[in-house]
Amino acid sequence: MNLDPENLVQYLDQTRQLYGNQLFLEDIGQGNTETYPEDLDSFHKLICNCQKCPLSQTRKNFVFGVGNPKADIVFIGEAPGEQEDIQGIPFVGRAGKLLDKILAAIELKRDDVYICNILKCRPPKNRDPLPSEVEKCEPYLIKQLQLIDPKLIVALGRISACTILKTKDSLKNLRNQIFKYAGIDLLVTYHPAALLRNPNFKKPAWEDFQIIRDKYLLQP
Ligand code: URA
Repeated sequence: MNLDPENLVQYLDQTRQLYGNQLFLEDIGQGNTETYPEDLDSFHKLICNCQKCPLSQTRKNFVFGVGNPKADIVFIGEAPGEQEDIQGIPFVGRAGKLLDKILAAIELKRDDVYICNILKCRPPKNRDPLPSEVEKCEPYLIKQLQLIDPKLIVALGRISACTILKTKDSLKNLRNQIFKYAGIDLLVTYHPAALLRNPNFKKPAWEDFQIIRDKYLLQP
């Protein structure tokens, strides 16, 4: 069988129609990333009906990610909130509006970067992601990052950073270090929702974004 992305999506779609979501989705996303398509849109289409965890039963929308598919910088939050679930787009609520302003301060628009979450579906009442949900969803994130191939990942907030880096360290300790995730440089900074709650975090957050600008945007 010819497994180019279009044929693969068509084949899996037909399989899903024939056998239902359960079988279809058991077959993908179990770390078997070589069967994933090689462009972001096809990958989105392939996984947007995911039923691998119970969040699929309560979500309004699967929130894949938004922005430039070839971005130099990818921002990763923890999971969609209420507005994101309704609109199917990450970071569109109050925290998202603040993220847009911070990006503008380093002369970036939403379309210049890529924004997504670890979990693609909203946890009820915005509770923290469960390890079982992360286990199912993280291969999607890794594949997204492989397809975008950015210079830098920015983990937004402690939950996002600790989930990605498999640590329980404090945000304070995690800032100002360059980690690697999926072979890509990763920096940790405050979640914009934390900046809304505590304006004292704005100064150190601004320092982080200046590092992002100077080290990853102004370099050739
Ligand atoms: N908080 C997140 O972590 N992600 C969103 O998409 C919105 C709020």
